[in-house]
Amino acid sequence: MNKIKILEKYMPPAAAPLIARWIDYFKCEFKISRNRNTKFGDYRPPFDGKGHRISVNYDLNPYAFLVTTVHEFAHLYTWNQHKHKAKPHGTEWKQNFKKMMQPFFDQQVFPTDIKHAIISYLDNPAASSCSDLNLYRSLRKYDAPKEAVSTVEHLPMNAVFKLKDGRVFKKGEQLRKRFKCVEISTRRVYLFSPVAEVELLKETA
Ligand SMILES: [Zn+2]
Repeated sequence: MNKIKILEKYMPPAAAPLIARWIDYFKCEFKISRNRNTKFGDYRPPFDGKGHRISVNYDLNPYAFLVTTVHEFAHLYTWNQHKHKAKPHGTEWKQNFKKMMQPFFDQQVFPTDIKHAIISYLDNPAASSCSDLNLYRSLRKYDAPKEAVSTVEHLPMNAVFKLKDGRVFKKGEQLRKRFKCVEISTRRVYLFSPVAEVELLKETA
């Protein structure tokens, strides 16, 4: 599948062509990764024969995905200009983030509240990656409702649930700490942490 088509699934579609162009132009290995919970995204400078690498969590809402992507590309661009001499979220990075955000403001891909939160984030000299609560909150408002999400320990016995990657399981007995669950399609048994986040599909199989 082509790059733009894939990116369109994760970000406002109007933004996808430019991001695809950046990936090619900067020869960046761009990965859409499973949720790591601790971070929205990640940038790694060229090292040991590898080029620039960016990864962004797949389960962010489209606006958060785009903001995170631009955030990481601003790290890449700052690295190209200054290498180790610029601080990760210092003035140079901030200027680049602002500049690289501009085309998306021009395209009006963001709702007004997000646009304003980004602008005030960029004007706040103390701002760094995830520590800006206003920006984080306005981005979170656009998350899909999460009612169906539960944890394995809160599901009834024999409940059928789905993981984020789409695989479906049936909950079984608890062994010491973890729960024995059977993957429906393969009949294989997996052990789940009680706090694993899953989507309930059916109360009983
Ligand atoms: Zn950062």
